[in-house]
Amino acid sequence: MKKNIHPEYYEVVASCHCGAQFKIGSTLKEVHVDICSKCHPIFKGEKNIKVLDSEGRIGRFKKRYSSTKILQEKAKEREKRKELVVKEEEERKKRKQERIIGKTSTV
Ligand SMILES: [Zn+2]
Repeated sequence: MKKNIHPEYYEVVASCHCGAQFKIGSTLKEVHVDICSKCHPIFKGEKNIKVLDSEGRIGRFKKRYSSTKILQEKAKEREKRKELVVKEEEERKKRKQERIIGKTSTV
């Protein structure tokens, strides 16, 4: 091994948010993790895990890239589709009411 180019390698105790501790090798003297094999739902046998985002990375990503054109266009399309659905619903209601009025007026 070439000298003076490698960082110090320590055997340290890493600690998890859940309180679990385990020995690892690291160039850091202290290691803290948010999730480990003792507390991660997948290791606890849980199903239907959607997203595990304890640091809000997904939110930050969405925030950062929400200004990009593609996402904006997609959002616009979604809005349009929503409006269409609302309009159709209103028309359906109108037709229903007209039918009811028509029935009652003939009786
Ligand atoms: Zn843990």
